[in-house]
This record gives sequence, structure tokens and C-alpha cells, in this order.
Amino acid sequence: MKEITFYLESGVSPESDWRQRANCREVTDPDVFFPIGSTGSALDQIERAKQICQPCPVKRACLEWAIETHQECGVWGGFSEEERKSITVGRRHSSIG
Ligand code: SF4
Repeated sequence: MKEITFYLESGVSPESDWRQRANCREVTDPDVFFPIGSTGSALDQIERAKQICQPCPVKRACLEWAIETHQECGVWGGFSEEERKSITVGRRHSSIG
């Protein structure tokens, strides 16, 4: 089983860190956030993860962190790997043009 591990940044108190309010801290099976592949049962897993992320109070911060730290695997901020790649590419294009 994979654990969701968040590392606190230096100078950030545990109380003020967004990770402390993450909905996924309560999930008993963190593997749901790390599907293998992007077809078949992995799609169901991705949807289950997104359902957990949807009401998460820190999903925006989570998404930005995942993009900034180049998290390649898993669902973060309610977005799959492929969706985050699209966001990153879109931002690059908008900053160029
Ligand atoms: S948005 Fe999803 S992955 Fe991110 S902290 Fe919330 S529940 Fe966890």
C-alpha cells in the first residue's frame, strides 16, 4: 500500500499548512489516488479519487503544489496525471504567446 506523504515546508507550522486539512488524510486506502495506468479499472479508481477531492477544502493548493513540484503520478487536486500535464502545457503556451 502506498502512503500519501506530505512534507511540511520549513517555516510553515503544522496548523497553517494546507495539508493538515486534506480530505485524503481520512482515506483508509490511499492507493485509490495512485491508479496504475489510465484504462479499465484505473479509470474507476481515478473517479473515486476525484470524488474524494471534489469537496476537499484545499484542492486548489494541492493542485498548485502538485504542478509546482512536478508530481507525475496520481490524482492531486482532483486532476489526473494527464489532466495536470494539459494544465502545465496550457500555462506554458499562454506565457509564451
Ligand atoms: S485535493 Fe484530493 S489529493 Fe489533494 S489534498 Fe484534497 S483530497 Fe487530497
